[in-house]
Amino acid sequence: MILKVRPNTKESIVEQVDQAEQIIVVGAGIGGLTAALGLAKQGWCVKILEQAAELSEVGAGLQLSPNAVKVLRHLGVDQALTKHIFTPQNACIRDFRSGRYYLKMPLASDVVKRYGAPYWHVHRADLHQELVAACRQHGVEIVLGQRVQGYRNEKDHVKVLLEKDTLKASLLVGADGIHSQIRELMLGMQAPIFTGQVAWRGTVPVTNIAGATVQPDATVWAGPNRHVVTYYLRGGAFVNFIAVEEQAQWQNESWREEGDVDILRDKFSGWHPEVTAVLDGCESTFLWALNGRPTLSTWHDERVVLLGDACHPMLPFMAQGAAMAIEDAFVLAKTLAKYDFKEAFSRYEAFRKPRATAVQKQSCDNAALYHMHGGWQGRMKLEALGMASKFANGVINAKLDKIYGHDVTTLEL
Ligand SMILES: Cc1cc2nc3c(=O)[nH]c(=O)nc-3n(C[C@H](O)[C@H](O)[C@H](O)COP(=O)(O)OP(=O)(O)OC[C@H]3O[C@@H](n4cnc5c(N)ncnc54)[C@H](O)[C@@H]3O)c2cc1C
Repeated sequence: MILKVRPNTKESIVEQVDQAEQIIVVGAGIGGLTAALGLAKQGWCVKILEQAAELSEVGAGLQLSPNAVKVLRHLGVDQALTKHIFTPQNACIRDFRSGRYYLKMPLASDVVKRYGAPYWHVHRADLHQELVAACRQHGVEIVLGQRVQGYRNEKDHVKVLLEKDTLKASLLVGADGIHSQIRELMLGMQAPIFTGQVAWRGTVPVTNIAGATVQPDATVWAGPNRHVVTYYLRGGAFVNFIAVEEQAQWQNESWREEGDVDILRDKFSGWHPEVTAVLDGCESTFLWALNGRPTLSTWHDERVVLLGDACHPMLPFMAQGAAMAIEDAFVLAKTLAKYDFKEAFSRYEAFRKPRATAVQKQSCDNAALYHMHGGWQGRMKLEALGMASKFANGVINAKLDKIYGHDVTTLEL
């Protein structure tokens, strides 16, 4: 029997026998919480182990497309969320300097009509808080300050190794993000691959923004080798921005660091006033290395299964990373409600992997489009996209339908 544990970890100090039908979820991120909620609603006894000492989320926004909102609605979290959201009017791609629209697609009521659910902007902390509340309401136990060190599959259970304890569970869900320990133990050590892109993120109170009015849209500002995304949050009280630039290397040990707002402004000086006004109003920012991973050979190992960024991290250029984690969580809970865990895990992976891989690829392709790769040819691609949106809307809808029109809540699994 192979012990799945980091080499420097002392094996099992105390063994606790937990309830037989317990599922342990590693990580209280958006994926882990959604999975825990879905499983608890199916009658499972669920415990989440989270390494952080307190529950919190990154101070940044999230675009929630209809495919994700449908899951949240099915799980009963949408109503609580409505008090926090902002509904964008259009999805736009604009020129970084002139502000000319390459693309302007209506969202708001058009999206509801087409896909049966809205497109929302939400602060990550608000979504996180509502998921935590729903989990607790459904009896999920959330244990903080517990870093999972390893696991070991036994005949009729899985042992979950903590620093000082060993817990026993029927199944283990690794929802522990891009640097997943569970993935590493399942498939071996492999550092995530730096994609050559970094993202500056921040939220700016509208009261700080002077000299320009930010449009109530989800806007990508496309420019040479970099782009900016702007959109409103919390009913329009804040503007969220993500400023992405290409960078050959990431030197830091950590994949997130505090950024210097003056450097940020400098990098995007000369951009359209809607962009510079937001960056001028920004008081603090964080800089993220954008990492990826190739498709994994498997997402499960006997009683252990992965979801979200742990198995398919993606560039944020389709705004689908959290949406994919939410979809994963739902499909996992649904398959486990219908099949024994072996069949459920294999069906879950068969349903989810092709979709997550396709969205990963599409997100990657968008980098070239947003960053005008190929000089004038890059601009021509943006122009062509704009023409297609005016005269051949079907081409764009066909692409988006595959993503936003996907409804895991009605899938026959
Ligand atoms: C700049 C940027 C913008 C984005 N914008 C969007 C967007 O608009 N829409 C969208 O859908 N997605 C977006 N994403 C992607 C999205 O943020 C992620 O895909 C999503 O948060 C992944 O969720 P997760 O639950 O899988 O992982 P995480 O959110 O990383 O959660 C993992 C959790 O596991 C915990 N953990 C880790 N290891 C252990 C351990 N050993 N023991 C216990 N706990 C552990 C961590 O502390 C953490 O709480 C964006 C990403 C970036 C970088």
